[in-house]
Amino acid sequence: MNKLEARILEDGVAESANILKVDSFINHQVDPKLMSEIGEEFANHFKDYGITKVVTIESSGIAPALMTAEKLGVPLVILKKQPSKILNQNLLQTEVTSFTKGNSYELTLNGKYVTEDDHVLILDDFLADGEAATGAIRLVRMAHATVAAIAILIEKSFQPGRGKLNEQGFEVYSLARVKELSEGVIKFIEE
Ligand code: 5GP
Repeated sequence: MNKLEARILEDGVAESANILKVDSFINHQVDPKLMSEIGEEFANHFKDYGITKVVTIESSGIAPALMTAEKLGVPLVILKKQPSKILNQNLLQTEVTSFTKGNSYELTLNGKYVTEDDHVLILDDFLADGEAATGAIRLVRMAHATVAAIAILIEKSFQPGRGKLNEQGFEVYSLARVKELSEGVIKFIEE
């Protein structure tokens, strides 16, 4: 069991068969030491992938993505969830359905910050249905950049996200793979 899995067992809250709360160390209060260790782990795994930028979705992916970018020595780009339709010729947008909130939002990227020369690592806190990651991939492609892989802190393996991304040919590297979730029960896939 790795450090993230151990911390999930200690401080994570299985709210239901679908939702895992990690508010005390990732989503609301953030543990910088754990984020730094996660950054180290991702940077180590992806060091030979030729990554030029780390791309995450605001807001919960920012802390681990920043640590990963720092350790890879590349910039971090944050995809914005703002509904902005401000006229800007560089603005790329795509619609994403939110798993947790049950609504849709526009994901926005200024094409100035990801270009055709970039090979991007997409990093997010959770993978569930794969909608957020797929939206991020669409935006990176709209910017004519390539996707190196998808890095995830917590994958809920009983949901179809990984399958959808693998089908499109993307590698998904998750630090914690939850195979079972119910009130008070959290079980991981042992690798
Ligand atoms: P997907 O788009 O893969 O269905 O869902 C991923 C997004 O939904 C993540 O960016 C994350 O913010 C949120 N999410 C999905 N499942 C959970 C969960 O069990 N707990 C929390 N805290 N967020 C989740």
